[in-house]
Amino acid sequence: MKICCPECGSTKNKKNGHIHNGKQNHYCKSCGRQFIEDAERKLISVEEREQIRKLLLERIPLRGICRVMGVSLRWLLGFMVSGYEQLPGPVLANTRMT
Ligand SMILES: [Zn+2]
Repeated sequence: MKICCPECGSTKNKKNGHIHNGKQNHYCKSCGRQFIEDAERKLISVEEREQIRKLLLERIPLRGICRVMGVSLRWLLGFMVSGYEQLPGPVLANTRMT
C-alpha cells in the first residue's frame, strides 16, 4: 500500500521509526515532512483545502470543520498555519489584527 504525504501528496516516503504511542512514523523524501499514517492518512485535495479555508473564514468551530471535512484537528491546525501564510497580504493582516 502506498502512503501519500499529507503535505505534498508524494508517495516517495520512508518509514521513520515509531512515535511514543507505537504508531508508524513516516518521512517524506520530497518535502521533508514527517507524518503519522493513521492520523493523517487522508490526502486533502486542493478543492477541499479551499473549502476548509472558506469554512475557517466563517468562524465555524474547528471541531465542526473537522467533522464536516473528515480531517483531524491536528491536520487542521497545521493547515491554518501553512494555509494562512499563503493568503494575500491584506487578508493576513486582517486575520492577525482581529
Ligand atoms: Zn511531502
